[in-house]
Amino acid sequence: MHKGSCHCGAIHFSVEATISELTTCDCSLCVKRNARMVKVPEDALTVLQGEADLTLYQWNTHRAKHYFCRHCGIYVFHRKRAAPDHFGVNIFCLDDFDATSVPICATEGATMTVEDPNARSEWPGPRVNTGT
Ligand SMILES: [Zn+2]
Repeated sequence: MHKGSCHCGAIHFSVEATISELTTCDCSLCVKRNARMVKVPEDALTVLQGEADLTLYQWNTHRAKHYFCRHCGIYVFHRKRAAPDHFGVNIFCLDDFDATSVPICATEGATMTVEDPNARSEWPGPRVNTGT
């Protein structure tokens, strides 16, 4: 089990999962927040403290739900658009987790935008394994 928190400590959560792969994403939001994430089933994520301090950001199709701390602004996790029964968790919020110990898979998120008339309706799956 991994425990995590935002920067100011208002939000604490736990993740009951073995982390064997990380993902990055090239959508406009993930690029700006420099996200590196792990995908976990919704049951695996538990908010231990600070649920009321979470703020929700939605854009584009409004299907994904991006949560961040309303005090310190740190992105903690999001309910995934392509897999709404899963969360993506900000691995840099996890305590004592070595982000270099696990391979990274790049997700092609930019092509999912509905602003593009030729956008794909389905997530095309992991694109390339860029290694660590
Ligand atoms: Zn915070």
